[in-house]
Amino acid sequence: MFSYRHAFHAGNHADVLKHTVLIATLEHLLEKDTALTVVDTHAGAGLYRLDGDYAGTSGEAADGVLRLVGGGAKPAPPKGAKAVPDAQLADALARYLEVVGDFNPKGGAKIYPGSPFIVHHLLREHDKLKLFELHPTDARTLDANIAQLEAGRQITVLRDDGFGSATKFLPPPSRRALVLCDPSYEIKSDYARVLDFVGEALKRFATGTYAVWYPIIPRPEAHDLPRRLKTMATKAGKSWLHATLTVKSSKITTDATGATHRPGLPASGMFLINPPYTLKPLLAAALPQMAERLAQDRNATFSLDSGG
Ligand code: SAM
Repeated sequence: MFSYRHAFHAGNHADVLKHTVLIATLEHLLEKDTALTVVDTHAGAGLYRLDGDYAGTSGEAADGVLRLVGGGAKPAPPKGAKAVPDAQLADALARYLEVVGDFNPKGGAKIYPGSPFIVHHLLREHDKLKLFELHPTDARTLDANIAQLEAGRQITVLRDDGFGSATKFLPPPSRRALVLCDPSYEIKSDYARVLDFVGEALKRFATGTYAVWYPIIPRPEAHDLPRRLKTMATKAGKSWLHATLTVKSSKITTDATGATHRPGLPASGMFLINPPYTLKPLLAAALPQMAERLAQDRNATFSLDSGG
């Protein structure tokens, strides 16, 4: 446990999907004056340097956000897809890039905001943010990063288990909340813990908006998770939305020397319960562009489904 560090992955294709959905969802919820509480059950370190040691080692942002801001190589679009000029970027994707740009006033994307900083950047003074991070080093970095915001009591950082403790903030006094559940899925039990967490959270606060990120990898638990969340939402009579982004094949390949190559994370999904009604049309326009721009081979694709 605890080998996962988000700094290695910050700004990758999964972050592009997750943070585009997060911003579009949050901005809709912020249209109402009533205070909103955002609970981030797995917060990470908060801010990342894309030119730092961690990000440089894996280079995942080069095939993620940096392709969109022009700092990374842009491969030819998959067969049949048309390259989209920046001026025609879908609103949700353009907004995501604006938010990343706000952290990089000199251009490019040297600094990448994680979910805590994206959320804080958009919140109003009377909204609240509750952050959970269990990794000792990342929790310390998150604390230090958040301290610089001088946000006072608006932000609470807890070095605690998000699955086990985040429901204590539900329902919040204003009865309006967005809960982001974004574990590392380092251990197999995370999949079951997501389901238990969302089930408990829905019991306590049925009208909250819940957003769960998950990896799409060849593992039964990963395929079951969205199916089970869908069943849970449907049984509770709640609306749901499911968006996925695939950037490459999940096949393990063997080269001429007989060495096998694992593809890394090929795809991921966001599953929302009680999503804003505005989210589906925004994603219907943004997902094809994400698949086209972030494609690593001809298997790049997306899906968008909703119900309830
Ligand atoms: N939400 C962040 C973002 O979008 O910028 C990224 C989070 S990262 C995918 C998952 C984080 O959860 C890691 O930093 C990991 O240390 C932390 N973590 C793992 N298990 C946890 C738990 N039970 N409770 C809280 N945090 C946990």
